[in-house]
Amino acid sequence: MTEQGSGSIKVPSRVGVLGFGGLGQAAARVLAPKHEMVLVAIADQKGYAYNSEGLNHSACSATYQSHGSVGYLEPCGTLSNQSIQDLIERADAVDGYFLALPNLPNTFMASVARQFIAAGWRGVLVDAMKRTSAVEQLLGLLPELQAAGITYMTGCGATPGLLTAAAALAAQSYAEIHSVKITFGVGIANWEAYRATIREDIAHLPGYSVEQASAMSDAEIEALLDETNGILTLENMEHADDVMLELAGICDRSRVSVGGVVDTRNPKKPLSTNVQVTGRTFEGKISTHTFTLGDETSMAANVCGPAFGYLKAGLALHRRGIYGLFTAAEVMPQFVK
Ligand code: NAD
Repeated sequence: MTEQGSGSIKVPSRVGVLGFGGLGQAAARVLAPKHEMVLVAIADQKGYAYNSEGLNHSACSATYQSHGSVGYLEPCGTLSNQSIQDLIERADAVDGYFLALPNLPNTFMASVARQFIAAGWRGVLVDAMKRTSAVEQLLGLLPELQAAGITYMTGCGATPGLLTAAAALAAQSYAEIHSVKITFGVGIANWEAYRATIREDIAHLPGYSVEQASAMSDAEIEALLDETNGILTLENMEHADDVMLELAGICDRSRVSVGGVVDTRNPKKPLSTNVQVTGRTFEGKISTHTFTLGDETSMAANVCGPAFGYLKAGLALHRRGIYGLFTAAEVMPQFVK
């Protein structure tokens, strides 16, 4: 673990990104101009790249896009069918990882957390997982994470993540919270740039399960998107914002609802992403706070920024010997410079 002076980080933290698809590559770009964090490790499905002095994000993305894996990167890449396991064993100087991995099957992220525990690794892990049942699996791992010396931050993307944290903040004006309504709009130029995100969104459509969506071929996904003109409309999703706000003591999970519209053929957002928090003040007034994200901000900006903000917060907790599991609604993210 790198040293920290009072207030700001003096020595950059060494961070890794697991999963190098849409979000993983965006995460590497987000980190590039930062001086408090340096990207030293990347894993994808077919390999990994590691350099304790830092990896060049454009070279990593170019290799991934041309060859399908950062394992082909010269001279730091290694091809592997168990890239995460191999990277954990090889990379001895990583303070924290952002897990930009698909959670398919729905137990995958919890199994990755178990791999870190079993390897005796100590540090900070951050995910941007979406499903309530997936976050609940992590909650079950809390005692093991604590014993292992891992500070795990879950649900730290946009929703859950930024919007859940905004709801926790907005709730402070009220004596009682009546509802938290999250509505997101996502626009991406093509679904192939964010395959796992789209596949996992399809799993939320009526008539689909996680198993069905994971089993769909790319051609089947394209056929489905052709039928809807590239638009996915999602309502009453099983989203972990509910369990996170319940755990943070804000309101019962039944008062939290999440839905949205994803356009897979147009980078323009189909609607403005927002969270509305309705409650009753101590004077008995009913009111609604609305927090709306700027339309120009992409999904990647709203996921990767918070993920690293929570990674920085997790590093501060870890340095103080605070391990276990935390959600985005429980801890403030810190701004990474
Ligand atoms: P993607 O499909 O573009 O990329 C996935 C990456 O993971 C690929 O690089 C792939 O090689 C790698 N991978 C797959 N299996 C692996 C394994 N076993 N070992 C190592 N690497 C492996 O994914 P994406 O669209 O960037 O989405 C990533 C995740 O982020 C999804 O689970 C999605 O639901 C989540 N997400 C969360 C939010 C939020 O606001 N919380 C928003 C968007 C996406």
